[in-house]
Amino acid sequence: MSDANWTCRCGAFAMRVQEVPASGTPATCYCTDCRAFAYLHGDAGALDPAGGVALYTTTPDRIDIVRGSAHLACERLTPRGPLRWFTTCCDTPVGNGAPLRGVPFFSVQAARLADAPSKPAARLHRGSATGHIPRPRGNTYALVMAVAKRGIASRLSGRWTRTPFFGADGQPVARPATPDAATLRTAYRDAR
Ligand SMILES: [Zn+2]
Ligand SMILES: [Zn+2]
Repeated sequence: MSDANWTCRCGAFAMRVQEVPASGTPATCYCTDCRAFAYLHGDAGALDPAGGVALYTTTPDRIDIVRGSAHLACERLTPRGPLRWFTTCCDTPVGNGAPLRGVPFFSVQAARLADAPSKPAARLHRGSATGHIPRPRGNTYALVMAVAKRGIASRLSGRWTRTPFFGADGQPVARPATPDAATLRTAYRDAR
C-alpha cells in the first residue's frame, strides 16, 4: 500500500492519491453523464467495451495536487450533477466530486491513476451501459456503505477541511462552468 500518482496527458498537472488501494474503492460507472464527460474531453478511449468509466472513489483529503493546480477546471453537465473536474493544459478528465466542500467525496478517473485496483468493487448504473457488462458485477450496496463510512470518518476526524478542490471560503477553486448547449448535445448524443 502506497501513494499513487495521477498525471494528465501532457504531464503539466499531477496529483497524488494517498494509500491506494486502502483509501478508496474502485468502481465502474456506466451512466450517460460520465460517458458524456469522457466524450466532451476526448477521452472515449478510456471507456470500457460497455461504455463504463473506471473510477477510484475516495475522499478529497486523500488527494494532493503535486503540480499544475492552475490547470484545474470544473464544470457541471446537469444542474444537480456533481462537479466534474478536468485540466485546461491538455483537457484530461480528472474526476468528479460533490458540489459542496462539506461532503467529502471524490471519484478519480482511474485510467490515469498508477496502481489503480483493476477489478471494480461495483458496476454502477448498469441500465445505461452501451454493451455487455462483464461479471462479476460487484456489490453496489457495499460500495455505498464504504463511501458513506469514509465520508463520515473524514468528517469526524476533521480531515474533510483538507481538500484541493475547495478554498477555505468553501468555494470551488475553479469556477464551475457549463459547456455550451450544442457541445453538450453532441457529447450526450455520442454517449447514447
Ligand atoms: Zn495536461
Ligand atoms: Zn457516472
